[in-house]
Amino acid sequence: MEDHSTKAWFSLCLAAMVGASVAAASAFWLHKRALDEMLARLDIETVERRKYKNRSNSRNRRLSDKITKDSVLGSSNSLPEMSSFANGIDNSKSDNKTRSPSMERSDSQPSFAAMSAIPPGLPRVQTRRDGQSTPGKRSSSGVQRPVAVIRPTTPRSPVGGGVFESMEGSDEEDHVLHNDDDSNFMMADEEGEIGTLAPADGVVENELEENVKPKSPGSEKATAATIIRSHSIPGELHGMHAPDPVAADILRKIPEQETFVRLNVSPLEAPSDEEEEVCLLMQECLKLRDKYVFREREHPWEKEEITDPSTPKPNLDPFNYQPEPASMHTFKMVDGVVRVYPHEAAEEELYPVLDATSFFTDMHRILRIISLGNVRTLCHHRLRLLEQKFSLHLMLNADREFLAQKSAPHRDLYNVRKVDTHVHHSSCMNQKHLLRFIKSKLRKEPDEVVIFRDGKYLTLREVFESLDLTGYDLNVDLLDVHADKNTFHRFDKFNLKYNPCGQSRLREIFLKQDNLIQGRFLAELTKQVFSDLQASKYQMAEYRISIYGRKQSEWDQLASWIVNNELYSENVMWLIQLPRLYNVYKDMGIVTSFQTLLDNVFLPLFEVTVDPASHPQLHVFLKQVVGFDMVDDESKPERRPTKHMQTPEQWNNPFNPAYSYWAYYAYANLYTLNKLRESKGMPTIKFRPHSGEAGDLDHLAATFLVAHNIAHGNNLRKSPGLQYLYYLAQIGLSMSPLSNNSLFLDYHRNPFPMFFARGLNVSLSTDDPLQIHLTKEPLVEEYSIAAQVWKLSACDLCEIARNSVYQSGFFHPLKAHWVGKNYFKRGPEGNDIHKTNVPHMRVEFRHEVWREELQYVNLGEAIIPEEYES
Ligand SMILES: [Zn+2]
Repeated sequence: MEDHSTKAWFSLCLAAMVGASVAAASAFWLHKRALDEMLARLDIETVERRKYKNRSNSRNRRLSDKITKDSVLGSSNSLPEMSSFANGIDNSKSDNKTRSPSMERSDSQPSFAAMSAIPPGLPRVQTRRDGQSTPGKRSSSGVQRPVAVIRPTTPRSPVGGGVFESMEGSDEEDHVLHNDDDSNFMMADEEGEIGTLAPADGVVENELEENVKPKSPGSEKATAATIIRSHSIPGELHGMHAPDPVAADILRKIPEQETFVRLNVSPLEAPSDEEEEVCLLMQECLKLRDKYVFREREHPWEKEEITDPSTPKPNLDPFNYQPEPASMHTFKMVDGVVRVYPHEAAEEELYPVLDATSFFTDMHRILRIISLGNVRTLCHHRLRLLEQKFSLHLMLNADREFLAQKSAPHRDLYNVRKVDTHVHHSSCMNQKHLLRFIKSKLRKEPDEVVIFRDGKYLTLREVFESLDLTGYDLNVDLLDVHADKNTFHRFDKFNLKYNPCGQSRLREIFLKQDNLIQGRFLAELTKQVFSDLQASKYQMAEYRISIYGRKQSEWDQLASWIVNNELYSENVMWLIQLPRLYNVYKDMGIVTSFQTLLDNVFLPLFEVTVDPASHPQLHVFLKQVVGFDMVDDESKPERRPTKHMQTPEQWNNPFNPAYSYWAYYAYANLYTLNKLRESKGMPTIKFRPHSGEAGDLDHLAATFLVAHNIAHGNNLRKSPGLQYLYYLAQIGLSMSPLSNNSLFLDYHRNPFPMFFARGLNVSLSTDDPLQIHLTKEPLVEEYSIAAQVWKLSACDLCEIARNSVYQSGFFHPLKAHWVGKNYFKRGPEGNDIHKTNVPHMRVEFRHEVWREELQYVNLGEAIIPEEYES
C-alpha cells in the first residue's frame, strides 16, 4: 500500500511537472517533508490530548480544525476560522507556507497514521482531491510559490519513492487512488479522467507522459484539470490552466462541507419516572432480541482482513466441488428442532436453542409491552422527535450535503452499488422480457416436447395451438402477468398473475424448474437476467427461490438445477423462501403433520453440512445461499399462539399454524444449523423473512426477536413501540412500495418516507418485477418513483443504496469493495464518500442521533457498539 501510494504520488507528481521546473517541484516536496515531520509530532500530541479530554461526537470537525489551527496557527479552533480557512486559503499572509492545502494534508497524515483511531471524515477532508484545485484560482498569487522555493534541507533524497511516503501515508487516499473499479469504470465511462488516474496503478514513466500528453485541446483541459483536482501540485500548474469557475467555486468550499450544523435538542433535565419506566421496558425488549438472534461468533472482517483494495477476483469456478471429509456430528429432530451432538455416543447437545415455550412467552411479553399506553405515547413522541431532527438537519445542511456530493469525484446515484434485497426469482424478469423470450422459443424451438398434460406429451407448438394462440398474437396485454387494480387486497389474484396468459401450463413450461425440460427455459431466462445485471454493473440482486417442504429431494433437485445450468453471477446471491402452505399439503395428503414439513426442509441441510459428500451439488449451491425467507399472504386471519403450543409432531390438524409458529421453527432450526456451519467454516444462512406486509403485529414482534432483517415491515406504522424497537436495533427493512401499491397499501400512504426520515434502516427493493415494473431496470425504477413522489434527494437515494448493501448477504470482500474497506465500523468512520456518495455529515448525523437515542433509552449508560453486527 505504501508502495502504491508512493508510486501514485510519484507518477502524479511527474505529471504535474510537465512544463514546470523539476527542481522546483522536488524542492517543494523536500520542504514539505521536513515540515511534515515537525508538524506531525505536534499534531499527535495535540490530537491525543484532545482525545483524552473530550469524547464528544464532533471530533471530526474539531480535529480538522485542530490540524489546521494547531499546526498552522496554534490557537483556538472556532468554526468561523475554520471555514475562513477553507474558503480563502490564501487570505492570511502571516502563515502562507503552511496554508497550502497539500501542506495541510501532508502534515495531517502522519499524525493520523500514528493514531490508531482515525477519525473517519477527517483524512478525507484534508485529502479530497477536489479540494486541491482550490489553489487554481489564486495560482498566480505568488503566495504559494515561495513554498516551493524556500525549503529547508532534508535528509532524504528527492528521487525515488521514499520522499513521498510520509506525505502520502493516508490509507484513504491510497484507497481512492487505487480504486480498482473506479479506474475500470473511468476507462469505460469517463475518458477524460482515466488518463490521470491510471498511472496511479501503472506507474510507468512513459505511460505517464503519454497520459499527460494531451490528445486534443479538449482532453488536455480535462487531464490537467484532473491533475489539479486530484493531487494539488500547488503553484506549478495553476498558471497553465484556469479551472472552470463554477467547478472551482464548488471545490473551494470542500473543507467546509465536512462541517455541518449540529443540533442539540436533548433535554437537560432527567427523565421523569414514567419515562424511566418506559425506557426500562425498551431495554428489556432489546435484551430479549439479543437472547435469540443468531450472531456470528467471529465477524468476517476479523477472519479476513482486506489488504488489497482492488476488485475482488471473480470466482471462476463457483461450482467446483472439493471433497470434504464428513465430521463426527450426529443430529436428530426433537420437538421440531434439530439437535446436534458431537458424536454418536454424546448425550449433551452442542448448540442448545431456546425452546418454543420461552419464545412464545417472550413474544407475548413484547406484545404486551408495546400495547401499554405510556409506551405508545413515549415511543410515538420519540419517533416524532427523530423525524423532526432529520427535517431540521435537512433544513440546515441539505445544501452542504449536496455540495459534498458534488465534490466527491466520479460517484453519483448511478454508480453507487445498490442491492435489490428482496426479489422473488420466479418473477425476476419483466413482462416484456418474458414475452420476448416466449416468442423466441416459439420461433426457434417449436418442436421441443415441453409438457405432459391430459395423458400426452405436447410440443411447444402444440401447447400454443391448444390455447389457440400464435406467436404473432402474443403481446404484453395478452400475457397478462401485471398486477392491476383487481389485485389490491387480493393476494390470491396476485398469485394467479404468475400464469402467463392465465395459463398454468405456460407457467409450468416457462417459470418452473422442475418440469419436463428440467427447467431449461427458466434457466435460460435467468441467465439473461444475470447478464443484464452484469451489464449494469452497479446493480445486484438477491433472488428468493422456493423450497416447499413437500419432499426432501427438493433440495437436491434445486441444487442440480442451479449447478447444471451454471447459474452464477458475481452480482447475485440466493435466498431460500419457504411458502407457508402446510394446510395445502395436508389437504393433499402430502404431509401428515407439521413435523413432516420441517423434516423435509431441514434434515437435508444438516446432512449436507455434516457430510458434504452426501449432497455434493447442494453443498456447492449452499455456498451462495445467504438467507432464509418465509412467504405467503400475511393478511390471512390466524389465531395467536399460546405459550403452550402443540409440538410440530402433534400438529396434524388441517389448519395452517400461525406466522409466529412457523417463524420459531424456522429460526430454531436455522440457529443450530448456522452454529454447526460456522464451526465447520461454512457460510451461514440468515433468517430474513417477509414480515409486516399485512396481518397482525405478532409477525413483527416475532421477527423482532429472531430475524436478521425483514422484507416489508409496513405494519410498523401501526405500532410506535415496535417501530421504535426496530429503530433502536437498526433491523433492516427491505421495503417495496410499488409492490405494496399493487397489493396492500396505496403508494401515497406508504410509510417508507417516514421510516427513512426517522432513521430506520430501510432499503428499496422490487419484490416482483414481472408483475409490477415496466422498465428494464426495475430497481432503478423503484428508486426513481420514490425519488419523484417523495422528493428524495440524491443524498437520500445514495443513503438508501448504501443501506441495501449493508442489509444484503454479499460477502465481506465485496461489501468492502463496494462501500469502503472500513464499512463495518459504525458512524462516519465506516463511510467512504468516494464509494457511497453519501456525505459524512449524513452518516454522522444518523449515527449521533442513534447514539443519543440509545443513551436516552439506557438512561445514559448505553454501551454503543463501534462495529456492525454480522
Ligand atoms: Zn416479497
